[in-house]
Amino acid sequence: MVCKLMLMFLFFLLTSTVVLALDLSKLHGNISFNSSDIKAASLDFGRINHVESLAVMYPNSEQDIVHLVKKALSTQGFNVSARGKGHSAYGQAQVAGGVVIDMSSTTASLQMRRKPVQGRISSYVDVWGGDQWINVLNYTLPHGLAPKSWTDYLHVTVGGTLSYAGIGGQTYLHGPQISNVYELDVVTGKGELKTCSKEQNTELFCGVLGGLGQFGIITRARISLESAPGSVILMQLTYYDFSVFTKDQEYLISLHEKPASERFDSLLGSVSVDTVPIKYNLEVVKYIYKSTTDAVNQEVDVLLAKLDSVSITRNILSYTNYLERLWQLELDLRSKGLWDVPHPGLSLLVPKSSIRDFDKGVIKGIIGNNSNGNLYCRWDPCTSAVTPEGDVFYSVWLLRTTGKGNKAIVDFIMNQNQEILNFCKKAEIKVRQYLPYYEKQKEWVDHYGDKWDLFRKRKMEFDPKHILATGQHIF
Ligand SMILES: Cc1cc2nc3c(=O)[nH]c(=O)nc-3n(C[C@H](O)[C@H](O)[C@H](O)COP(=O)(O)OP(=O)(O)OC[C@H]3O[C@@H](n4cnc5c(N)ncnc54)[C@H](O)[C@@H]3O)c2cc1C
Repeated sequence: MVCKLMLMFLFFLLTSTVVLALDLSKLHGNISFNSSDIKAASLDFGRINHVESLAVMYPNSEQDIVHLVKKALSTQGFNVSARGKGHSAYGQAQVAGGVVIDMSSTTASLQMRRKPVQGRISSYVDVWGGDQWINVLNYTLPHGLAPKSWTDYLHVTVGGTLSYAGIGGQTYLHGPQISNVYELDVVTGKGELKTCSKEQNTELFCGVLGGLGQFGIITRARISLESAPGSVILMQLTYYDFSVFTKDQEYLISLHEKPASERFDSLLGSVSVDTVPIKYNLEVVKYIYKSTTDAVNQEVDVLLAKLDSVSITRNILSYTNYLERLWQLELDLRSKGLWDVPHPGLSLLVPKSSIRDFDKGVIKGIIGNNSNGNLYCRWDPCTSAVTPEGDVFYSVWLLRTTGKGNKAIVDFIMNQNQEILNFCKKAEIKVRQYLPYYEKQKEWVDHYGDKWDLFRKRKMEFDPKHILATGQHIF
């Protein structure tokens, strides 16, 4: 009897999947049930979690996404997840048995919409949510313009980074990428296409920025631009003393409101082990616009004279080569077979007041090797992103490598990540995860703290059936 019931249940599951597949195949926007497409959508940079969707959509327009979401709501119900380039660490863009929307599969007609305009407030560009930042650079640069705030790696998508914050060397000056957006088009979890900004549909705008894909799918973002420099002076400053390293960083960040000639254009710290001692590195950058390199070098000399690093290297690079500096790292890792392996990353925002305890307990104590990060300020409160107390904090990204993906090493690093979080809790270092990953709602409630009630209210309003971005495991 039990066996018969199980068979009937299995039959029901199979029929409902077939009906759903037939239903979906009638939609516009290239729905693929091909197993290789489904497999590709179930993989991400982290290579830790894998779940397979029923289908993958390659949208031709935002209307395809509207129809898909409406279908998800009207049939027996399935979940929908936007996927940028799948740089997530723990399956955040995957969806079991639902539909992954491959946002990075843009078409020519959508790319035509990127038109820089000299707006009243500032120059801006309209981009498709699935565009990679490198495409945005390549499009705006011939117009002499570029976004103000970058991630340090440009092969992530606009919709993907705006769902977190988008941080990099310029964040200390301009805020994260979510603070440099004027307007969005979003398909909500109710299947409505809405334009939103600080003035129009404000709740949706603030919710979606840093919203981990929970309230809608970003199809268009209007990004603020500035004049692009032709080249940059890139300097690497070395330190062995942590307190000197942080003193210099905190001094440089204090200059953020000074005229451009009296501060750097980008700051980024990192830590590595130099044979035995721990080496701290500060990457600072000065943009070269129209003035001569000599004149900019003189401004640099004035700034460097106030710093106490043990050594400095100085190079001139084109603006594009500077922004694309991590691309070479990707190529190197790929050539060694170290890209498509598990990356159990941990990314933390650490309050300035606790960074010394963090260095002692985590960097020197638990890890003793690679990480990078920096100081950031000026995060716009109108976003879903959460940060530690104070305007100034460090972002620490622990770059974990697992060799060729040995399971014992993956488990070791995952345990170490947990050990770091436990240590911070015990030592009362009030860190926040930057690319957060939790499996239990209680942990999300703690993560959002005071912002949780608003976050949940917005979910009720914009995705009441909880069909979006279920790979985040929040609702
Ligand atoms: C090598 C490397 C370097 C990185 N460097 C930086 C860095 O310098 N600074 C930084 O801030 N981050 C950095 N990241 C992290 C990166 O920002 C995140 O991985 C982010 O998820 C963007 O990746 P993606 O575009 O591939 O999005 P995915 O991983 O595909 O998606 C991430 C989440 O966003 C949602 N999402 C994707 N597109 C949309 C959309 N259009 N609308 C709504 N939701 C959407 C997905 O459903 C998912 O929940 C880096 C990651 C890697 C692997």
